[in-house]
Amino acid sequence: MSYINDVLEKAIRMNPGEQEFHQAVKEVLETLEPVINKHPEYARAGLLERMTEPERQLMFRVPWVDDQNRVQVNRGFRVQFNSAIGPYKGGLRFHPSVNLSIIKFLAFEQVFKNSLTGLPIGGGKGGSDFDPRGKSDGEVMRFCQSFMTELYRHIGADTDVPAGDIGVGAREIGYLYGQYKRIRNAYESVLTGKGLSYGGSLARKEATGYGLVYFVDEMIKANGKSYRDSTVVVSGSGNVAIYAVEKAQQLGARVVSMSDSDGYIYDPKGIDLDTVKQLKEVERKRISEYKLIHPQAEYHKNTERIWSIPCDIALPCATQNELNGEDAKLLVANACYAVAEGANMPTTPEAVDIFLKEGVLFAPGKASNAGGVATSALEMSQNSIRDSWTFEEVDAKLKEIMVNIFNNASEAAKEYGYENNLVAGANIAGFKKVAEAMLAQGIV
Ligand code: NDP
Repeated sequence: MSYINDVLEKAIRMNPGEQEFHQAVKEVLETLEPVINKHPEYARAGLLERMTEPERQLMFRVPWVDDQNRVQVNRGFRVQFNSAIGPYKGGLRFHPSVNLSIIKFLAFEQVFKNSLTGLPIGGGKGGSDFDPRGKSDGEVMRFCQSFMTELYRHIGADTDVPAGDIGVGAREIGYLYGQYKRIRNAYESVLTGKGLSYGGSLARKEATGYGLVYFVDEMIKANGKSYRDSTVVVSGSGNVAIYAVEKAQQLGARVVSMSDSDGYIYDPKGIDLDTVKQLKEVERKRISEYKLIHPQAEYHKNTERIWSIPCDIALPCATQNELNGEDAKLLVANACYAVAEGANMPTTPEAVDIFLKEGVLFAPGKASNAGGVATSALEMSQNSIRDSWTFEEVDAKLKEIMVNIFNNASEAAKEYGYENNLVAGANIAGFKKVAEAMLAQGIV
């Protein structure tokens, strides 16, 4: 369709070299054709042009001093993509691969994901090319303080509320919050994923992983399957992966594999999650050490081969583009029947096409990993009413939200002729609410 093609061409032209951003925009726009056909007023209002251009993109210098007294300089980012339905909301990523393209693709995806949760939150994302790996606590703290010394002027409880992502966990959120509070002299709900002693929500840590597993549960139940006795492969061993494994195991699955950026472990007896938590959450060690404690497990030095392990359900929970067309073919050949994204855009477009063509149930991240941001919004609600809910209350709300997202995405897919295609369904359901809000608010 020429309107969609024109917008896509313009987005590629205006953002040269930003491959991840192009990939994310293309993936969304391509599925919107029937909606745009049905609503010519969207094109007249320049909606897609506006939706593919961030409201604001910030890049800034982050100088800090390392333990050897050397000055280090990193680059900070915050992309405030769309605030039509609420304050910008989305995580901060600290990883050496971070650049503007990656932050922009994540912020763009976040707009639709946040809309899908049904909660009043806009979309944004940020981060830095700082690598917390191998840094001392003091170095991480000085970096976080410097990062926040610039970021604070752009965020606020009613403006933009960042959270964690890759490389930003409880420790980093604590340092960032401390510095914000100190500069602003205000105890505001400006970050989520906070510690329980200073305004955090119970079940936030677990939310993305648990939410992913709840979503998959709904998706496979609708197809007459269940977790019980199924074999599951999970990539990653960070926040999302650990709690996806925990919930899948609670529901009776046998999880046989996890990974980090150096390699993966395969434990045919089923992963011992206590060991992984101790290694990753407490000692900050490599996943290879699992084998020292569980000699029956195998350790493999490359991450890609993880998808050659036969499984019923695959949950990529590490990073973008970690599962390609070749991996998808292997999974299909091994009779894997469901794939759900815990990470953001871990599946390449080629792999997604293979899953959809082969009838593998496929859950896109913007739907299946939305439990984290949804629970962040619940953290904001608790902060604003100065209350805290029990774990069970938050978990029950999370579950309800994930079921609703599944139903909304399935129904939108059906309504627009994409039956059983949750990629299109999630894009359309997320898009419609933002589109209506933007239309109502005029040309801004
Ligand atoms: P963490 O930093 O806690 O964990 C990331 C995991 O992925 C680690 O095991 C890491 O290994 C591994 N990893 C990172 N980069 C690579 C790579 N290039 N190749 C292989 N493995 C890699 O991050 P999260 O668990 O929070 O985030 C994981 C994914 O989930 C990201 O895509 C994130 O955007 C997404 N997500 C996170 C949410 C959250 O609430 N945290 C919410 C929604 C989505 P290593 O330790 O070696 O770096």
